[in-house]
Amino acid sequence: RKADVECRMLVLGSGPGGYTAAFRAADLGLDTVLVERYASLGGVCLNVGCIPSKALLHAAAVIDEAQHASDYGVSFGQPTIDLDALRKYKEKVVGQLTKGLAGMAKQRKVRVVAGTGSFISPNELEVTGEGGTQLIRFEQCIIAAGSQAVKLPNFPWDDKRVMDSTDALELADIPKKLLVVGGGIIGLEMATVYRALGSEVTVVEFLDQLMPGADPDLVKPLADRLKKQGVAVHLKTKAAGTEVVKDGIKVSFEGDKAPDAQVYDRVLVAVGRSPNGGKIGADKAGVGVTDRGFIPVDRQMRTNVPHIFAIGDLVGNPMLAHKATHEGKLAAEVAAGEKKEWVARVIPSVAYTDPEIAWVGVTETEAKAKGLKVGVGKFPWAASGRAIGIGRTEGFTKLIFDEATHRIVGGGIVGVHAGDLISEVGLAIEMGCEVADIGHTIHPHPTLSESVGMAAEVFDGTITDLY
Ligand code: FAD
Repeated sequence: RKADVECRMLVLGSGPGGYTAAFRAADLGLDTVLVERYASLGGVCLNVGCIPSKALLHAAAVIDEAQHASDYGVSFGQPTIDLDALRKYKEKVVGQLTKGLAGMAKQRKVRVVAGTGSFISPNELEVTGEGGTQLIRFEQCIIAAGSQAVKLPNFPWDDKRVMDSTDALELADIPKKLLVVGGGIIGLEMATVYRALGSEVTVVEFLDQLMPGADPDLVKPLADRLKKQGVAVHLKTKAAGTEVVKDGIKVSFEGDKAPDAQVYDRVLVAVGRSPNGGKIGADKAGVGVTDRGFIPVDRQMRTNVPHIFAIGDLVGNPMLAHKATHEGKLAAEVAAGEKKEWVARVIPSVAYTDPEIAWVGVTETEAKAKGLKVGVGKFPWAASGRAIGIGRTEGFTKLIFDEATHRIVGGGIVGVHAGDLISEVGLAIEMGCEVADIGHTIHPHPTLSESVGMAAEVFDGTITDLY
């Protein structure tokens, strides 16, 4: 069969992993085709993930800031929310970025093929789109087909009031009562948005803390603030049964302190994402896929088939955009003949809640579990001039270091802009910095970033002479 399209490099999926890989491959001179089933490039992150959620979180932060401004003598009154305008703002932000990607693809002569791709052999992908089916023959391939939200089976998904994160980002309305199932990053970010817009929000989490994976002390200031704001949080609780009733979705719960069954106007299920590795005909290409749908790769992002690479959410956790982009760049470079491998020591995690929580490297919980001997430097923002000035003293910054070598192995920050502050700790870990290196680095005053410098000087509440 004659191929409709032939190329050196085929990239399947245009999320942060895929577009980065395609652009890098093209920059390195590989004739590149990018296949995407949706109308706009950018994948989950740009269209229904990182970017729209952060646009809405910005609106939430403005609402909260305006309400608290009376603390310093400025009153704005009750906010009125024009949901259509807010939705348009979010769409404008997304559109600006996705159109930018389309332009960048054109500039690099990356050919974009619209449709759903499925392998039919180790060098062929069949793409089915509006205009019918096309056969693409490729020499090398990077699979970047991403992940999708886990849909718990005991929820009535044909009812529009049951939502995944994509539905929640559509902002169909502001439900009076919203149940969020899952207290991880995505669930809590959306809880933050809807709470600010005026919903009465309940969060249920199966495990014993919100934001599993982060140290409990980092989560506490967020949990305290949510409580103050009237968000009901139920830990060790499972949403067990659901029933569509006239005025909403009735949900019953299981757990020692489970609340009684209640009717909610909308229910957001945010219990994780599952990789799309099993949905692309990988077996026809001979590419191995695990039972869960992940595609195993080596340190060069190569699958078991040497000319096929895989990157992003579908190769494993953490499912984060910045991991996908680095992997995409690496895969393209290796495919083009560069001798490299993936050697990142750490990948930061950020929850863009209010306050934000950011962590990187070894956590205290992990250190304890693994019996690592670590020291912890902690600086409370109650002692930060800047945090006091903006009325947000609930945060703190901590550095975790190897007791023997004093090298930084991890860090965590909770507070406004924590996500913007954590990179310094990541850099320190990547560079093998000792605590003293951060302590000796002059941080500008008065900034929240100073807290990182101060955390390097304060251990167990006293100034130390570790240097
Ligand atoms: P994806 O972005 O999932 O892209 C895969 C692409 O492949 C999609 O466009 C899909 O349509 C396409 N595709 C799949 N199968 C086929 C096929 N057979 N044929 C053609 N095309 C196909 N991460 C962060 O780092 N920071 C955040 O703040 C953040 N916020 C998030 C908020 C939400 C609500 C969600 C859901 C996720 C968030 N994430 C965040 C995670 C982030 O979106 C993902 O880690 C990232 O998008 C993964 O990139 P990827 O390239 O692996 O795949």
